[in-house]
Amino acid sequence: MTESALPDVWDVAKDVPRRGLLRLRFLPELEAEFLAAYRASARRWVRLSLLVALSTVLGFAVIDHWVLGGSRRGGFDFVRFAIQLSLVLFMLALTARRFYARFYQPAIQICAPLFALGHVWMAMTTTPEQLPLVAARLILVAFFFYFMLGMTLHAALRSNAILVVAYATAAAFGAVAPTVATYQLFVLGCANLIGAAGCYALEHANRVAFLERRRLAEVAMHDGLTGLLNRTALEERFRRLWQKAVQDRLPVSFLLIDIDHFKAFNDRYGHQAGDRCLREIAHAVREAAHRGPQDLVARYGGEELIVVLFGADRAHAESVCRGVIDAVSALRISHEASDAREHVSVSIGAATLEPDSPLSFAHEAQDVGVQLADRALYLAKARGRNGWVYWDGTHEREAAPGRTEEPFRDAV
Ligand code: GH3
Ligand code: MG
Ligand code: MG
Repeated sequence: MTESALPDVWDVAKDVPRRGLLRLRFLPELEAEFLAAYRASARRWVRLSLLVALSTVLGFAVIDHWVLGGSRRGGFDFVRFAIQLSLVLFMLALTARRFYARFYQPAIQICAPLFALGHVWMAMTTTPEQLPLVAARLILVAFFFYFMLGMTLHAALRSNAILVVAYATAAAFGAVAPTVATYQLFVLGCANLIGAAGCYALEHANRVAFLERRRLAEVAMHDGLTGLLNRTALEERFRRLWQKAVQDRLPVSFLLIDIDHFKAFNDRYGHQAGDRCLREIAHAVREAAHRGPQDLVARYGGEELIVVLFGADRAHAESVCRGVIDAVSALRISHEASDAREHVSVSIGAATLEPDSPLSFAHEAQDVGVQLADRALYLAKARGRNGWVYWDGTHEREAAPGRTEEPFRDAV
């Protein structure tokens, strides 16, 4: 296989899933990931914004009493204090850490339009002279929805659409003179256009930044040559895997895979050919060994790869060993300098940690798992390579070295 034809695991890290970026909606799984990250990071901002909303409601109470005065004061105060203030306080309470993730977003999509309807009602019931003053608030509300409440553009558009439709409907029923209503709706439309454009640009930039952060995290977690997980990522993911295995009382198997006579391969074919070989083998191992979403395949160091299989007992581990040996053999990469086979082969050491193992700390479990697999690997090498040894810890036999075309399978 040539390098360019090689399906590149490394592309996982390079490929930025930009689909839906322009429409501000990624594919569902990524969209959920983005929204969770975006909302979590917006919590403090949202809280601050609601405090701003609180002070503007109180500020308008003061200025309305001073400037507008008159007979509508009671109705305005009812809407302001009984409805709008309660909505703001309620939303403020939902920014508390324990409520925010679950309740804030669904609630804001109901509370924001209700808040806006309060202002529409005030505009509709005020005197024609005061209408321009009161209606100006609708523009503030529109901008507030676009920029302050941690809503996505789509959610802000929905809330603002309710505001505009409510105002237009009330105006159509004669609450406002047609020319004035048309003018105000035009101004409101312009405000929405500007707000939506700004909100789009902001959300687009947020999404690009999210994709970049995600890509950097992917790059930091993967080995540059093989595209497999690197040691740091392995340790981090293993912690979670082991926690779950202990919780669910499931076994975890380790496979340590080492390329046979790789130094001789480099000496014979050159280091670049060695790199290509390593990449192809890494890819083949990943395809053959990664069977469940929890399984880990990493570059352990040099030409050694490691596979950690979640919930895998001995039979499962040995079937993966067989799969890996066969997959590497199917690559048929010539290796004239090998005394194990004509083609590049690998040796595998395998071991299983049982769920009732006393190793509750992940780093201990990983150390022990690797240690046992490493002992088995040593024996697999001694037995002539191109095969696997499963460490069952019951007895240890003499290794039987020699050139074999058929992979061996053994246990110690
Ligand atoms: P054995 O069958 O006993 O494993 O023999 P070996 O030659 O494979 O083992 P040894 O540990 O002596 O040599 C490992 C070689 O792997 C030496 C090193 O140059 C090569 N190697 C390690 N990492 C890389 C890499 O990233 N690229 C290339 N081309 N070679 C590498
Ligand atoms: Mg080797
Ligand atoms: Mg080695």
